Amino acid sequence: MTTERRAPVRPPLQHAEMSQFPVREGELVVGGMPLTRLAARVGQTPFYAYDRGLLRARVAELRSALPAAVKLHYAMKANPMPALVCFMAGLVDGIDIASAGELQVALDGGTDPREISFAGPGKRDAELRQAVAAGILVNLESAREIRPLAAASQELGLPARVAVRVNPDFELKGSGMKMGGGPKPFGVDAEAVPALLRDIAAAGLQFEGFHLFAGSQNLRAEAICEAQRQSYALAVRLAAGAPAPVQTVNLGGGFGIPYFPGESRLDLAPIGDNLSVLVERAARELPAATLVLELGRFLVGEAGIYVCRVIDSKISRGERFVVTEGGLHHHLAATGNFGQVVRRNYPIGLGCQMTAPPNGLATVTGPLCTPLDRLADQVPLAEVSIGELIVVFQSGAYGASASPERFLLHPTCVEVLV
Ligand SMILES: *Cc1c(COP(=O)(O)O)cnc(C)c1O
Repeated sequence: MTTERRAPVRPPLQHAEMSQFPVREGELVVGGMPLTRLAARVGQTPFYAYDRGLLRARVAELRSALPAAVKLHYAMKANPMPALVCFMAGLVDGIDIASAGELQVALDGGTDPREISFAGPGKRDAELRQAVAAGILVNLESAREIRPLAAASQELGLPARVAVRVNPDFELKGSGMKMGGGPKPFGVDAEAVPALLRDIAAAGLQFEGFHLFAGSQNLRAEAICEAQRQSYALAVRLAAGAPAPVQTVNLGGGFGIPYFPGESRLDLAPIGDNLSVLVERAARELPAATLVLELGRFLVGEAGIYVCRVIDSKISRGERFVVTEGGLHHHLAATGNFGQVVRRNYPIGLGCQMTAPPNGLATVTGPLCTPLDRLADQVPLAEVSIGELIVVFQSGAYGASASPERFLLHPTCVEVLV
């Protein structure tokens, strides 16, 4: 008898379970409707579908994990579909916008202008004037913004409400996209803020607080807690030189969702505990202030799917290629071309065969003449037929609006809220 010694085989990394959508008789159910019926109702593929029930559940989950005193804002950059923004406006405490275009959608959606805040590194004078007229809060990102705000305020006879977006002297560790710390185009360096606060006072702008946004797509609760503690402490330090009591401290967000094999869900419990401590400290140290979180991806990302049909299925030198009508032009992020360093697969499924066992590996591509147009690379997939529905999960954020739809002039995509 031979005793064979083998290194323990590590199982391949799996995607986090896509349990948010029910599956009935093998078919995905979205917004209470089986996928094939939904596709018939939409009348075309490809499309994005966002599930109202999941959006509501996500906000409720967050509310129960976070202290009641913390305000929750939706950063609509993640998904500016007007019907979705309108729906979110009814669930959250405010909307964060990044352009005059987004301002219009937020206002059309019925958001109270007092609860809209405007961030972005290159605000045009005309946009700043619109912001003053609307009565929203502008997160100042540069000393240059003071003058047009003061001019608009005088002209319109309305206060220009401002907070200072601070580029902190620390980074959000483990973040997919760093947006604070070091040299950055976003915000005002922490060390330059005291002088800016004096200029704000001299220009007669209405100072209301601070905004700190350290980064995006973070799955490590401890790193988020650390960034929130440091952001809060920085706001307290800077408040000493503020021309008016601090009414709002926007601690940013950065909450991530699991996209790739091996990633797991963010644990909200330690974040809630940490924020409870900060709320208590704020009651003593910044008694007029409300703490705010602004989240995009975490609120909407998991509630959305992208659906497209199979056009062709072929073998090349032994490898299986499934060619669909959807791809990079509608869903840049899923093809790995929206800021990812290494291309990894989004979770993908066959909408009507969710429980079918895989029949080997396949690469799922779009119709574009570029090797960048890949929805999935070498994934286990059941046998597919032409016309079958392919579903890309985790598609509710940075999907349609973050994709180059005109590239190759294929048919456009539609978005529905169900
Ligand atoms: C992009 C952005 C957000 C949203 O980030 P998510 O990672 O989607 O939560 C929030 N605030 C600001 C200032 C942003 O630029």
